Amino acid sequence: MTVNVGVIGAGMIGLEHLRRLTTSVTGARVTAVNDIDQARAAQAAAEAPGARVADSPHELIDAVDAVVVTSWGPSHEEHVLACIAAGTPVFCEKPLATTADACLRIVEAEQAHGSRLVQVGFMRRYDTGYQALRDAVTSGEIGAPLIVHCAHRNADVPDTYTSDMAVHDTAIHEIDTLRWLLGEDFVAAGAVLPRRSSRAAAHLIDPQILLLETTSGARIDIEVNVNCAYGYDIRCEVVGETGVRQLPDLVTADWRERFGPAFDAELLQWVESVAAGRTTGPSSWDGYAAAVTADALVAAVREQRQVAITMKDRPEVYR
Ligand code: NAP
Repeated sequence: MTVNVGVIGAGMIGLEHLRRLTTSVTGARVTAVNDIDQARAAQAAAEAPGARVADSPHELIDAVDAVVVTSWGPSHEEHVLACIAAGTPVFCEKPLATTADACLRIVEAEQAHGSRLVQVGFMRRYDTGYQALRDAVTSGEIGAPLIVHCAHRNADVPDTYTSDMAVHDTAIHEIDTLRWLLGEDFVAAGAVLPRRSSRAAAHLIDPQILLLETTSGARIDIEVNVNCAYGYDIRCEVVGETGVRQLPDLVTADWRERFGPAFDAELLQWVESVAAGRTTGPSSWDGYAAAVTADALVAAVREQRQVAITMKDRPEVYR
């Protein structure tokens, strides 16, 4: 079966996903594209043989087997809810939605539907380095995890980047990956602010050290440093009771180069799960958990205090 995919949002990553689905991911073809800017949608559709421009997100959803949502964050909720209402599987780029309440509305709609339809674009779970770290934890090879040290460094960021985005847009990847890697939720957030980088824009708190505590008492520190000048550098070291493992030492120009193979694997797995009629991968619940954690970290940075992280009970459909 070839899965007919519609793409809502033909910006930077929408175009990348369209190209992947057209050239390297087997089992799917892009048949419809929609963007708030229809000229941009037409340019993107021209790159996928047989694809057309859909007049509206709703018209697109009705015409395809599955949807990729790559519009800007504030419109994700509307598009994902429309997919759920139509019973159509949907891959939504992170963030699932821009507030924890909006994520919860998606969770509730999926629950009412009775089974999973949504996969969230937390692609680091498909990175071979992170998978090896997770194997080392789940196999017991390094003993119980005690501490995780992470760094998320970018050479620079545009002027539109804000201090809150250091959490909501940047560390959101660590937040999801660490929940998955350790198999635990978080109970508390904190933050330590070092001396500000002279390279950071005047409005920006950079770098930031974000702190998390898991249910078992493991501690995590995440350095977010988005003006590091030298490149894109993602680090993660898990300290267990009997051993230590870390990601390979890789500095690249940007995230596309660093996580290209993970994006490929992520979309391939999504297409295969759609063809099999069973959505897997990062769920709406994971999107909700990440949003709740991100909100707590933003409060910890702003108010310079420890913030408790509390979540609703996980519904049966996500167990
Ligand atoms: P972008 O280049 O701004 O693209 C978003 C596109 O969606 C733009 O063409 C935008 O049009 C369009 N759009 C906005 N509202 C829409 C609506 N209501 N209906 C249809 N189209 C709409 O942004 P991007 O960098 O591709 O990011 C898109 C999403 O992917 C974001 O949620 C971002 O966080 C996520 N992302 C994830 C990763 C990752 O590592 N997984 C990396 C990059 C981005 P206008 O420009 O005219 O508003």
